[in-house]
Amino acid sequence: MMRAIRRMIPFGGPERFFLPHNNLRSASTRIEPELTAVRYKVKRGPFATINDAHTSFFSELLGPDRVITEPDECDSYNIDWLRMVKGSSRVVLKPKSSEEVSAILRYCDEAKLAVCPQSGNTGLVGGSVPVFDEVVLSMRLMNNIISVDEFAGVLVCESGCVLQTLDEHLSRVGLMMPIDLGAKGSCLIGGNVSTNAGGLRLLRYGNLHGNVLGLEAVLANGKIIDCLNTLKKDNTGYHLKHLFIGSEGTLGIVTKVAIQCPTLPKAINVAFLGLENFENVLKTFQLAKSELGEILSSFELIDRTSVETSLATLGLKSPLTNTHEFHLLIETSGSKLSHDEEKVSNFLEKVMEQGIVEDGTVTSDPSKVKTIWDLRERLAESQTKEGYLFKYDISFPLEHFYTIVPVLRDRLKDCNVRFITGFGHLGDGNVHVQVNTSNYDETVNSMLEPFIFEFTSKFKGSISAEHGIGFKKSKYLHYSKDESAIELMRLMKRTMDPNGILNPYKVIC
Ligand SMILES: Cc1cc2nc3c(=O)[nH]c(=O)nc-3n(C[C@H](O)[C@H](O)[C@H](O)COP(=O)(O)OP(=O)(O)OC[C@H]3O[C@@H](n4cnc5c(N)ncnc54)[C@H](O)[C@@H]3O)c2cc1C
Repeated sequence: MMRAIRRMIPFGGPERFFLPHNNLRSASTRIEPELTAVRYKVKRGPFATINDAHTSFFSELLGPDRVITEPDECDSYNIDWLRMVKGSSRVVLKPKSSEEVSAILRYCDEAKLAVCPQSGNTGLVGGSVPVFDEVVLSMRLMNNIISVDEFAGVLVCESGCVLQTLDEHLSRVGLMMPIDLGAKGSCLIGGNVSTNAGGLRLLRYGNLHGNVLGLEAVLANGKIIDCLNTLKKDNTGYHLKHLFIGSEGTLGIVTKVAIQCPTLPKAINVAFLGLENFENVLKTFQLAKSELGEILSSFELIDRTSVETSLATLGLKSPLTNTHEFHLLIETSGSKLSHDEEKVSNFLEKVMEQGIVEDGTVTSDPSKVKTIWDLRERLAESQTKEGYLFKYDISFPLEHFYTIVPVLRDRLKDCNVRFITGFGHLGDGNVHVQVNTSNYDETVNSMLEPFIFEFTSKFKGSISAEHGIGFKKSKYLHYSKDESAIELMRLMKRTMDPNGILNPYKVIC
């Protein structure tokens, strides 16, 4: 039965909320993965092996403190956040400038040493850790904010800045980052740009191909490419920045970025709704677009199992009394509270009148807004708390957004599976599908892959909506890219990185 949607507390002022910097630690209690090379039977490329002469060169260049060779210390750089892949690198380098990155790459290229760029190591496709003994290039110390143009809304910074830190910095001058994701306290802007990360507000602000105005990158041979344009309009020849946005460290290392930043909204409203079926989800989305128009900033779907897992494993509280088949988190961001509230009220009245929502709540109170967002942003954390997580990030034409979840539940009903969930950025047609097992299970893996990619391709979806290809999806690229496009990608890779030292075994193999 439908209950009246209640406004919890009046709006308390413009504020942005973040999970703490250490929000991503939960995975550490889980079992350590097998070596990638063993589990996935990978053959090592024809690269040199690191020796004392190499480490002496790096120590002279960076100083011994920024060259990590202690195996224990190297460990955390060898394992990804999902604990699904593990490399065996014996050296981690921490440059502080583009010139140092350039000198490292020039040396590695000549010595045929493979390199794995790493930022916050929150990537979910096994791209950010080595497969074998690649040199890890950690970008964490390149974390200077270079300038903020308050009038134009343009931020220029080094690529090792934490996303959350940038957002906090910008909020002091009434601006915000155009990108926001659950990993914001740990991921770095260079990692975001290199994966073309999407996130929670892509619906409103668009992707990084649009928001990155310019960047600086270092090629495999050490050449620094300066495309650090800060203009919104610049049609002078090839738009080279796009080669580095989303290429996951296979074409160059991003060292600086210029990003256009929207104005921080003055009014934020968040509604959390419970619905009975997917048809009503689609109707609600259509109404949200027509009623909320330009103030709609997020439209996220969370299924029943996802909410239940979060409540059980993280002890979070749901703003609704019961769980429902589907939950929607709908956010509006605008410049005038009374205007936005009127629109939100009209929208909620319509969904109530039409009986498409079972229960709901709406708030503009900052602490309650945060409670609701926590539930959404900590879904990945709650589902990796125990066991092994097979995680897929796919996009579909909207009517098929959730089709894959019941299909998988049926397909895996006789397997040893703990739970299967679906949640994601409904506004962008991007669903995250999770299958949790006690341990890595080869039978489950073979039931999932390539089935899930074939299914996605059949429904004209993308096998990677926002996480990238990395190591995990490289052999499935052809499900979303024509052979002619893959051939051009290979040509670009050979041209820009003839020795193939940059992030080998990733994206294209
Ligand atoms: C809880 C959680 C929520 C998430 N939510 C989202 C989401 O909503 N949307 C989304 O898109 N992703 C999401 N992700 C995935 C991940 O956070 C993003 O892919 C993010 O952009 C990775 O940034 P990072 O700094 O951790 O990069 P890393 O994981 O360190 O690296 C990612 C890739 O980029 C390469 N790379 C890193 N830095 C550079 C550089 N400077 N130059 C060249 N190559 C580089 C790496 O080699 C690797 O291939 C989430 C992850 C977690 C754990």
